Amino acid sequence: MNTKSKVYLIGGGIGSLSAAAFLIRDGGLPGGNITILEALSVAGGSMDAGGDPARGYSMRGGRMLTIDNYECTWDLFKSIPSLDHPGKSVFDETIEYNEKHKSHAMARLVDSRRAKVPVSSMGFSMHNRAELLKLTEASEEKLGASCITDWLSPSFFETDFWYMWQTTFAFQPWHSAVEFKRYLHRFMLEFSRIETLAGVKRTAFNQYDAMILPLQTWLKAQGVNFALECLVNDLDHTIEDGKFVVTALHCVTHGESETIAVREGDFVFFQNGSMTDASSIGSMTEAPAHLTKADSGGWALWEKLAKGRADFGNPAAFNSCIAQSYWHSFTVTLTDPAFFDAMTEFTGNQPGTGGLVTFKDSNWLTSIVLAYQPHYRNQPKGVQVFWGYALSPDRIGDFVAKPMADCTGAEILRELCGHLRFDPETVAHANCLPCRMPYITSMFMPRLRTDRPLPVPRNSKNLAFVSQFVEIADDVVFTVEYSVRAAQMAVYELFKIDRKVTPIKAHDKEWKTQFDAVVKAFV
Ligand SMILES: Cc1cc2nc3c(=O)[nH]c(=O)nc-3n(C[C@H](O)[C@H](O)[C@H](O)COP(=O)(O)OP(=O)(O)OC[C@H]3O[C@@H](n4cnc5c(N)ncnc54)[C@H](O)[C@@H]3O)c2cc1C
Repeated sequence: MNTKSKVYLIGGGIGSLSAAAFLIRDGGLPGGNITILEALSVAGGSMDAGGDPARGYSMRGGRMLTIDNYECTWDLFKSIPSLDHPGKSVFDETIEYNEKHKSHAMARLVDSRRAKVPVSSMGFSMHNRAELLKLTEASEEKLGASCITDWLSPSFFETDFWYMWQTTFAFQPWHSAVEFKRYLHRFMLEFSRIETLAGVKRTAFNQYDAMILPLQTWLKAQGVNFALECLVNDLDHTIEDGKFVVTALHCVTHGESETIAVREGDFVFFQNGSMTDASSIGSMTEAPAHLTKADSGGWALWEKLAKGRADFGNPAAFNSCIAQSYWHSFTVTLTDPAFFDAMTEFTGNQPGTGGLVTFKDSNWLTSIVLAYQPHYRNQPKGVQVFWGYALSPDRIGDFVAKPMADCTGAEILRELCGHLRFDPETVAHANCLPCRMPYITSMFMPRLRTDRPLPVPRNSKNLAFVSQFVEIADDVVFTVEYSVRAAQMAVYELFKIDRKVTPIKAHDKEWKTQFDAVVKAFV
């Protein structure tokens, strides 16, 4: 490790923040040598959460984590001090929080009669099982760029298993068969507890307050520089011994253009693509604007770099069809306990113990989560916040005659009260902020192995890719873990760090033996 190296991280998501932390903790690089360049006005990327009771709280996403997986994430957060518990790490405080507030959903699926669906079995036929087994055993080469529907019959998509798996992980039938297969293996332990979400772990607050803020605080204390509202729109490069070498970054900060020289021995990490790119927030009276990558420019740099360079991937595989990659979420701020009280009575779960409640027959395929309160660091007593999302915002609602994509916050609340048969009074003073995310499942789009660059492409000397759009064997996208793992791999490889990237734990052996035996006995 050359401690004189300067490192520029393009993008300020968890991927870049963790790369900076690995460089300091495991590489011994002084924090002052690291600069994070982020287009938005805050760091944290997709793991945002902000607001206050007057404007309303908002977060694009709410996250489920596990302790049985997320190996690199916890390896990192074991070293990041908690902001609230002196002497403890973020990992320690998360474990303690989950020991106190165990997940055990009692209303995971709710049907059109407002009945809680008893999900004691997955609802598979023997044919469904045989198809699922074939898919779990197929090689990635064989699966290629096929869709889930190429492997599973229509009846599979009517099973309770599919409703739960789909809404826990945000899969659509047209998504990548490879990603679906990887999920079945990676989250095998969740298979047997998917109806209660007992394996799911939460953070004490939303993930911006519980993970990003402590990490950013630690990085700042190490001297890491944060350049916010700074869009990097081009890179200069040269070729040395057949290898790609970045020599300069072109940025626009607060409207001012700037060129940063990247010298011999310096490195650049690039977050190529973001699932929350071009997202927009509406209000109680306005639906979110329908933006695309043309409005945000968020994919432009990867598109420029990848042009004519097969090693740098193929962004078009992911960002070419918003109709297949978008959905909407919403965050609701309440100043009256009526809604939480009614939900607690209906589900039998105290906030923070129930996880997702999915209205399985709803046209929009809506789910909501009531987290433990307060969910925000600055959330005063008497205020409650919950989050929800819908996987089919292109459809007309059951109680509002409009696609969710065109709905205001007030209309989303009306639809929600319709499914719950709650009196509209329960949300009379609520502030619901809808959020449109056109590329939210872009990483799940069918793709070939070559569509994603390796964290350090073979022909690169000083450029790494750290995102959801890199190729990592066996791991699963749409997770915090994937970006942290990409960061650890890239840092260790470029800086030749003599420490192993935290290996993926294999949980699938025991389950698979049982699964094979059952299926083979009947097929
Ligand atoms: C609704 C939702 C639900 C989720 N649920 C879960 C869950 O249950 N469990 C789980 O583990 N994960 C979940 N995730 C996924 C997880 O949050 C993401 O995988 C992770 O945050 C991605 O981090 P990242 O750093 O790779 O990318 P991002 O967070 O997207 O950050 C990339 C950043 O790079 C910036 N950037 C890109 N290009 C440039 C440029 N040229 N110049 C300057 N800046 C640039 C972007 O502005 C962005 O801020 C969820 C995400 C969402 C949105």
